[in-house]
Amino acid sequence: MAQPIQDEHPVPIIDAARCTGCGLCVRVCPTHALMMKDGLAVVANPQACAYTGHCERICPEQAISRPFQIVFSPKEEAK
Ligand code: SF4
Repeated sequence: MAQPIQDEHPVPIIDAARCTGCGLCVRVCPTHALMMKDGLAVVANPQACAYTGHCERICPEQAISRPFQIVFSPKEEAK
């Protein structure tokens, strides 16, 4: 049975253990979804995230990753 598509808003995952607090991701984010908090980058405004990937690409520490969900559509019945 097909599963309903979840109405979730994915956001980048920031590995706090890798983040050095350089702030590059915050500066490059076009929608201001990220901010610095206690010296580390955080997704402070998740609904603003447009999933552009600018933050992931610019991070010199590879501290940011963007999860993707692969969804298979049900096979259409042969007519
Ligand atoms: S670019 Fe990477 S290391 Fe720099 S603040 Fe953002 S997550 Fe941290």
